[in-house]
Formats: sequence, structure tokens, C-alpha cells
Amino acid sequence: MYQAIHRLTLTSIALVAFAAVPLAAATQVEAGPPTVEWGLVIHGGAGNGVTRENISPERDAEYRAKLQEALRAGHRVLADGGSAVDAVVAAITIMEDSPMFNAGKGAVFTSSGTNELDASIMSGADLNAGAVAGVKRVKNPIVLARAVMEHSRHVMFAREGAETFAEEQGLELVPESYFYTERRMRALERAKEREAERSSALPRETEKFGTVGAVALDRAGNLAAGTSTGGITNKRWGRVGDSPVIGAGTYASNESCGVSATGQGEFFIRNVVAHDICARVQHAGASVKEAADAVVMDRLVRQEAGGGVVVLGANGEIAMAFNTAGMLRGWIGPDGAPTAKLYGDE
Ligand code: ASP
Repeated sequence: MYQAIHRLTLTSIALVAFAAVPLAAATQVEAGPPTVEWGLVIHGGAGNGVTRENISPERDAEYRAKLQEALRAGHRVLADGGSAVDAVVAAITIMEDSPMFNAGKGAVFTSSGTNELDASIMSGADLNAGAVAGVKRVKNPIVLARAVMEHSRHVMFAREGAETFAEEQGLELVPESYFYTERRMRALERAKEREAERSSALPRETEKFGTVGAVALDRAGNLAAGTSTGGITNKRWGRVGDSPVIGAGTYASNESCGVSATGQGEFFIRNVVAHDICARVQHAGASVKEAADAVVMDRLVRQEAGGGVVVLGANGEIAMAFNTAGMLRGWIGPDGAPTAKLYGDE
């Protein structure tokens, strides 16, 4: 399988972290999330490292607690009559501020030892959207993506231009050193060692996940979706993944659903994953689960591309599909009781 993946990607062995498991074993589709009148669904990244063997009980508990905190923050916004956009930003900001996720504070390093962050957000009511790529000094890229959506004539800003816009908007900038974490630096060093060895062995995958995303349906019936990431460890500087690409990593339309994706970004861009799922719901009459499964469990698996999505339909249907060993994920409905899950068998 490694050979095939390598042929397909021709990029970096780091991408193997997302290698899709063979279709026969790809049964990790969430069985029973409820349909909600209003609520929120989130993810904290998908990967083959998300297993009980790789994640200690302490770490497991920390992940669940942080996912639940993010879900409760989004729920509070929605319960108070706030918008889906507000709820998505509230949930994602909490995960960006935690070093546990590959977004904001815990962003992974590029091959040059920098942190380059991507994020996007979309409002399903009016198809308005905002995105930022390759920012290095913005504490909360999802807040900047929202500012692009609401306070500019444009959809996407990159690098210095995005940071200048952040300054103009009065958003919090931090020194680049803010994003330094030992754990992510070690992950970069290991990735570089593997690259030097040209090893065909599967890399340690423990830390190869952590992009965050959220989709909310508010009490007024409006959807929003957002995604934030540091990208992929050892990515070439300047590389931009799917997370800030509207239609690939993020999409929301009140006519169908909202989607936030995580996984091997190059494939998510090529397959326009988030929009494809919404298009299947809108034009082919698929349920949210059918659409998510068709794209993640079939189309992406056939391309040996690993990852997952969280989806919330305009009808309140929730789907969480992933073809990797696990995906950090959770949902919350009007009752305010958060559910968080990590592995494929729960
Ligand atoms: N999709 C992200 C990227 O390719 C990475 C991830 O979701 O883990 O940048």
C-alpha cells in the first residue's frame, strides 16, 4: 500500500499518516449521532494514530475534556440565540488556544521550522465566506477568517497581506515563538529523520492529527462551518492545504448542509470534498450520512486518501465519517449534553 500511496502523492512520506485503511476494514462510520433541532458538531483531526495503543488514558481524558469544553462553548452561544457563525468561532477558538490540537497554539512545523496557519469559515445563509492561508503571527486564524468574511470585499487573504488585515481589524497578533511547542518540534525532527532515511516504514503516527473544525445549526435554522489548521508536519513552506479552501475543507449552505474536513489536504482539494458532500445532498437527494460515506468511505478510500468529515444538515442530521483509525469528534444538541469520541470502535 505504501508504494501505491507514494506513487499517488509524490510528495512527502509524512502524508502516509493519513493513509486510508483498505475499504474492507473501513467501517469506522459513526453509527448513531442524533438528528438535532439545533446544535453543533466538531472534530479535532483524523489519523491512523488515533488508537488506544497510541493515546494514553490521561491524554484520552484531556482530549475528551477539551472537545466537550468546545462543544459547551458553542452550545452556550446557540442557546442564547447566537448565530451559527458565532458558535463555530467560539468552539474553534477554544481548540486553537489549546496546544493539544494542530491549530493555533499547537500548530505543526513546516520543513523550515516555521508555523504557517490556515483557516476558513462559511455562512450557509448567504454563502458568504472568509479564509486565510499561511499566517504566522495571528493568534486565532478562525477569528481572522471571520473578519475577512464580514469586513472585506474578498474571500481569501494570504501571508503578510492577511496579517496586515488582521492588524487593521485590531485582532491579536503574537510573536512567531508563541506557536513553538516541544511536541511539534520533535514531530518535525522525526519527519526529517524519516525523510533522510527514505524509510518506507510507516512513520510514528501518534501526533499526525489535530486539525480542528466545527459545523453549527442555529435556532434560526442557519448553518455555518469552519476549519483551522497548522497543516501537515514538514510541509514545504508556502504549501497551503484544503482547510482554507472553500469547497474543499469547508462548505456551508442552508440548502443542503455544512461540512468541515480533516485529512490529507491535497486529496481533499482535488476531490472538492466539502462541496461534493453538499452537492450530493442538494442535487442527488442523498442524506447527509449517505453523502459523507460516498465521498469519505468510497471515493477517498479508492484513492488511498485518509481523513474524515463532520457534517450537519439543514434538517439537523449529523454525520461523522472517517476512513482512518480514529477521529477526534463530538456533537451537542439542545439538551446541552456533549458527546465526545476518539476511536473507530466507539
Ligand atoms: N487537512 C489538513 C491539511 O492538509 C491537515 C489535517 O487535516 O490534518 O493541511
